[in-house]
Amino acid sequence: MTPRRQSSRAPVTSPAVATVFTTVLTQGPVSRVDVARRTGLSSAAVTKAARPLIEAGYLIERDSEQSGIGRPVSPLEVRADREFFLGVKVTDRELIGVVTDLRARMLVTKFRPLPSRKPDAVVDGIAEMVTALLAESKAYKQRTHCLGVTVAGDVDRDTGHVRYSPFLHWRDVALGGLLAEKIDLEITVDNDVKAITVAERWFGDGVGANSFALVTLGTGIGCGLVVNGGVVAGSHGVAGEIGHIPVFGDGPVCHCGATGCVEAIASTDAIVAQARTATGEAGLTMAEIVTGARLGDTALRKVFARAGVAIGRGLASVANLVGPERIIVSGEGLDAYDLFADEIRETFATQAFGAAAQCELILRPLPFEEWARGAAAIAVQTLFLS
Ligand SMILES: [Zn+2]
Repeated sequence: MTPRRQSSRAPVTSPAVATVFTTVLTQGPVSRVDVARRTGLSSAAVTKAARPLIEAGYLIERDSEQSGIGRPVSPLEVRADREFFLGVKVTDRELIGVVTDLRARMLVTKFRPLPSRKPDAVVDGIAEMVTALLAESKAYKQRTHCLGVTVAGDVDRDTGHVRYSPFLHWRDVALGGLLAEKIDLEITVDNDVKAITVAERWFGDGVGANSFALVTLGTGIGCGLVVNGGVVAGSHGVAGEIGHIPVFGDGPVCHCGATGCVEAIASTDAIVAQARTATGEAGLTMAEIVTGARLGDTALRKVFARAGVAIGRGLASVANLVGPERIIVSGEGLDAYDLFADEIRETFATQAFGAAAQCELILRPLPFEEWARGAAAIAVQTLFLS
């Protein structure tokens, strides 16, 4: 995307400036000496790189602290309210929008129903959401330059094209371009799970982990991968599609066209479809299915057990291929976790090869607004990528 407000951006004019800025942002407050040690830059280079960021108000020096022997040090810290960021996550039925500060802390959250999934309606909805979020404070209007928008599916971040989004029924939608016609901000469009992975790596459980995977369970089953400290984007924009790893060779046909994918067995829609078939009750809802299974209905329990095996196989494939330190499992599908936890863990332990099984499985709920925070995190990230 073409930057539309270049003049107002942080003065990230060299790789050294970007390195110092990201180090202070994700690990600060931190002294110049520590920045130098952690990044391999010389102390002089750190001082030189920090200067324009201090002058532009993005970094501040804390009051001097005496550090044992030697001269006092003034740790560098980010001024979190120097700039604000917007994040909007598009789901199949609503928009979730947030305003965050530079450290991706959520300041305002808004939900807005989507009357239609058609691209024009979604673009109008996002534009209205942006207006409503900025109207919350004069400071937001003055100091917001970047918007991140995320959708599920195959997204080309470089061009802002959504190539395929199953839940919106979109193919080849130039979302970034359509938004740029209506919204005067620098816009980044990306896959929703990759965006949450960025937030996790910079501001969450991923800080300090050299490699980790974030797997989300729910309407879709997604996976963001961090390897050697970087989010894996894939040379075609597709990587970590754990939902479409084939785990049951003779399994059901997936919406993607393939057979036996994890998502065809363990997504919310797949669980509902299998439960309806198993019981012969065509009107069953997910809530009823979860309740029935918890009350001990054998047919329903089998559906969850099979989903657990599918997820466990998918997680083991990730561990065997990438060898992450930990896998964080999250998403709204985790609400029913008690119904397939044993199968996930047992299958993972059986299928993970050798030391790959030492990979830690962390289970954590994911409030819906966290998806929008991920979108804001990719907007923060644009500060460093130009
Ligand atoms: Zn599939």
